[in-house]
Amino acid sequence: MSTAAPSHMISSPAHCAWCGMAFDDDSERLHGRRRCRSCGAATTDPWPDQAELDRAYADWYRPPSGRFAGPGDWLLHRTRGLLARRLDRIAPPGAVLDVGAGDGALLDALQRRGREALGLERTSARPDVRTLELDELDGRFAAVVFWHSLEHLRAPGAALARAYKLLLPAGVIVIAIPNSASLQARAFGDAWLALDLPRHLVHLPASALLGRLEAVGLRVERLSHVRAGQVLFGWLHGLVHLLPGRPELYDAIRRPSARRTGLRGGARAATLAAAATLLPAAAALAALEVAMRRGGSIYVEARKQPCLSPASA
Ligand SMILES: [Zn+2]
Repeated sequence: MSTAAPSHMISSPAHCAWCGMAFDDDSERLHGRRRCRSCGAATTDPWPDQAELDRAYADWYRPPSGRFAGPGDWLLHRTRGLLARRLDRIAPPGAVLDVGAGDGALLDALQRRGREALGLERTSARPDVRTLELDELDGRFAAVVFWHSLEHLRAPGAALARAYKLLLPAGVIVIAIPNSASLQARAFGDAWLALDLPRHLVHLPASALLGRLEAVGLRVERLSHVRAGQVLFGWLHGLVHLLPGRPELYDAIRRPSARRTGLRGGARAATLAAAATLLPAAAALAALEVAMRRGGSIYVEARKQPCLSPASA
């Protein structure tokens, strides 16, 4: 048995993961991704196979002990509580589906409010989480949530169309996703935190997402450049990463078991101190991109129209 090359296949994507347009020699090649001339989305290149994704989602990504040190996990649960309250208010009666449910914090928050809630995830021990693909799931839902999960799917456009079919009349789709047309994406380029290669398979500008939502028959009711989170952190991580030694702030705030690079005591403390110093600058840049409607992540609510058939566009 050979111990040389890894057994997985490296392949370049033939089509845009978002709109399906075939790539040609003129399509723009960027570090780790390729941009579609038709829709403006980028597709991760090389396209990872299952073995590579399994490695990329290995235990450090989301260990059972929680991901973040200090108040990070508390903050995560608090923001899921706010999202659950919002969903409860905007969705018609019925169950909520959380695609990419993670540790189930949103499911818990919804169930505390008396909402039936079901999650999908790669693996889970929870009885209210299925390890199915979206197209294997049946049922009717008042809301379908893609909270920083759509960009992880191999067929995100088809997933939106499937989510539309699963929606009850007047049901809502809620999406939070990095915005590749943001100021921070432009500023940091190949080093932008939210590229998250190879886990993020598609990299969408806000316009490509909004266009597709309208095309499947949804009406976009709300677009926020603040609510999806990560706007401030994206700037802070990027600014810290410009320093000598290219420190990884995202690793520094994670618990030891959840760190990717094995960052140790002194280097971690220096990274956190640099972040504290750069925080005012990051806050000013975050405020600027929000004011310009070019947030690092966007939050979208889109509703199925009760009396319209799906648009053919
Ligand atoms: Zn495309």
